[in-house]
Amino acid sequence: MKKEEIIIILGTAHLKEISGKCSPDGTLRECVYSREIIADVKEKLESYGYNVFVDYEPLGKSDKMSGSGTLQSRELDYRVRVVNGLCSDYGKDRCLYVSIHVNAAGSDGKWHGAGGWCCYTSKGRTKADNLAECMYDAAFTNLKEYVMLMEEGKRRGDYTEKQTPFRMDKTDGDRDLEAGLYVVRKTACPAVLTENLFQDNKRDVEFLLSDEGRHAIARLHVEGILGYVKKYML
Ligand SMILES: [Zn+2]
Repeated sequence: MKKEEIIIILGTAHLKEISGKCSPDGTLRECVYSREIIADVKEKLESYGYNVFVDYEPLGKSDKMSGSGTLQSRELDYRVRVVNGLCSDYGKDRCLYVSIHVNAAGSDGKWHGAGGWCCYTSKGRTKADNLAECMYDAAFTNLKEYVMLMEEGKRRGDYTEKQTPFRMDKTDGDRDLEAGLYVVRKTACPAVLTENLFQDNKRDVEFLLSDEGRHAIARLHVEGILGYVKKYML
């Protein structure tokens, strides 16, 4: 496959109408942060000559998210329709999908002691497992500073003892976590969802909002995606 034939689809997190999804001090909103990182990742990948689409760019809901069910379920359904539309237009073998989120330990509006980065795929052995492996490789390379920050943060009590910088489940032979997440499960092409640290951990939020943190999170997505593209698509 040629570079120009590859379709990279980036997934933004949530809508501004969905409550919660915010740091307790209000400095980090997941929907905003995800869109900012995606703008960087898109620009970088396009500068290398790749086609990049975003499943849904506006912050607020759209009339296109109509139908029955909750706003959140209509939103997710819309995202899946966009991704699968591109898969049928271009062929799913030419597409990949990466949805970019920030994790949370609670929904009580308080700070918590959980932290770390992880990547989800759908259940079972699929091409998405290869994509997730490339994302983990890139996370290990780009989050070295965060690894040290967590070590130090544990000593200060900002993280509970059992926290690890990279959350993994190696029982099935790879590092990704598997869950029935809707956008990952329903999309036709290889699809993963990254949870980029925790919006309700004070130290994680500080890191995410720093220049170094933003660059690290954006760069890990660029490198992870390119790693997969070069190994499995080009
Ligand atoms: Zn999320």
